[in-house]
Amino acid sequence: MQTAEITATYNPFLPFSSTFPDTRDRGRQWGSEGARWIAFATRRDVADVLALGLSVEQLATLGGWLSQNALLNPPALVPMKTGEFVCACGCGETFTATYRTKRPKYKDKAHKARAYRARRRDRELAAIEAQRPRAVALRRNGNGFKVVHG
Ligand SMILES: [Zn+2]
Repeated sequence: MQTAEITATYNPFLPFSSTFPDTRDRGRQWGSEGARWIAFATRRDVADVLALGLSVEQLATLGGWLSQNALLNPPALVPMKTGEFVCACGCGETFTATYRTKRPKYKDKAHKARAYRARRRDRELAAIEAQRPRAVALRRNGNGFKVVHG
């Protein structure tokens, strides 16, 4: 019994009954932990859960199942992923990168700066284009036409 308590480590992804075998105090502790998980999942008071009259084992098992739910108990650290990506700056190069949550867009800082300069250049050219007078009509002018600007 003593060795089981020392070697057992807390693993939130295993049910309480398998991480901590049948020691009475441990069972009561994990029963109250299970009651708290049930209260958290159902948005009730812990006293309401205990008023149901479930046994310590039932509370611990149910709480263990709820603690395994990734929606209720999300993992603390999102695992790293590796993938092959095409650079979004327009160079068409592919690169391999590791990431945790957001997929990388550019190969490196130089490609990111290049994409920013291209966007800025496009913006400036669009502003110049918007300033230019636009042709709205053609008017007869002898044998040819005259362009009328708006
Ligand atoms: Zn690039």
